[in-house]
Amino acid sequence: MPLYPPVTDPKTIDWDNIPFDYVRTRSFIKYTWREGLWNEGELVTDGTLTMDVAATALHYGQSAFEGLKAFRMKDGKIRVFRPELNAHRLIKSCAATSMIPPTVDLFLLALKRVIEDNIDYVPPYESSGSLYIRPFVVGSGGQLGLSPAPEFYFCIFVNPVGDYYKGGMGNPVKALISHSFDRAAPHGTGAVKLGGNYAPAFLPSNAAKTRGYAVMLFLDPRTQTYIDEFATSNFAALTAPNPSDKTRTYVTPKSPSVLPSVTNRSLTELARKHLGWHVERRQISWEEVKQGKFEEMAAVGTAVVITPVEEVHREVVRAPREVKGLSTRDGVEDVWRDEEGDEEVEIDVARASGKGGFLELYRAYKALQRGELEGWERYGWMWPRDGIA
Ligand SMILES: *Cc1c(COP(=O)(O)O)cnc(C)c1O
Repeated sequence: MPLYPPVTDPKTIDWDNIPFDYVRTRSFIKYTWREGLWNEGELVTDGTLTMDVAATALHYGQSAFEGLKAFRMKDGKIRVFRPELNAHRLIKSCAATSMIPPTVDLFLLALKRVIEDNIDYVPPYESSGSLYIRPFVVGSGGQLGLSPAPEFYFCIFVNPVGDYYKGGMGNPVKALISHSFDRAAPHGTGAVKLGGNYAPAFLPSNAAKTRGYAVMLFLDPRTQTYIDEFATSNFAALTAPNPSDKTRTYVTPKSPSVLPSVTNRSLTELARKHLGWHVERRQISWEEVKQGKFEEMAAVGTAVVITPVEEVHREVVRAPREVKGLSTRDGVEDVWRDEEGDEEVEIDVARASGKGGFLELYRAYKALQRGELEGWERYGWMWPRDGIA
């Protein structure tokens, strides 16, 4: 078994059936920051070096990443969706973890270089797939002291992916609000895209999946009263159409612990400008969701764009755990480990069974990214303007 998969020949890719999975393309791009400067960067094709970068470890969680997409559009040109916003977000994530970020210009230059080198991995227009782009910054260097790393890597991996739903929108899923896990803390790092925010969520998310919940939803960590977001995507909801003018209201949470999603922001702008809907960014209480104030709910993010959510189940503790004191094993007390009694948990359910609204928005969004929406250029969202050929 090779430690690292071989390079995939782009001629062997079945463009209509690309899974959302790692595909090793020709190269990734790597810049190193050392002694005050980013170097000139290199396109790395060597599998061993790729392993080395993946194994960079002594950084104590100095790790931030991004996710965005490039599309082969109707005019045959390749463009990336709003990369400046990802560059700015990466800069914020680096600041939160004392890392040296690339400038916006370096981010865009690196993007162009790695796409050009892997141009034959960008799925054809007809397949409606895209090139998924994963930039990241990690601390590096053999340092044991608990302080910022002496050098940093800024890398971009690119990877062809298929259209998640092949032209339609997927089946609605169920979401779980757990009573025993928060993804973010008050005054924590929920609003930046750090590696350390995700690893702790894998365990509860996988446990939720085995119970039939595709995604986990989180409430604000301080009061557990308002909706924050899903583990890897933002929360959005739609009101029923206004009977007089058929407009809807797109409602999404305002919270300091939510990751500012490029997809969510773009959907609100499109809802307003293209569909003439209203947009509210405000606190959304669990109570109003439970009372069925919304006709539709969804999880929104780059990878899937919009996943409709038909039900949210919230675990509510009726009888709290009783702490029985320190447990002992072979007569030796476990340090700081309290033995806990059972607790009783009940499930509260919120439903939103409407459809049609998010589908309308989804179609417009995909059409814009593919260069099919009338006047798509006016949004100024597809970069570079003249495309990469
Ligand atoms: C990446 C991410 C999102 C989605 O952001 P996009 O920019 O739309 O891809 C939402 N929430 C969390 C926690 C994320 O990590």
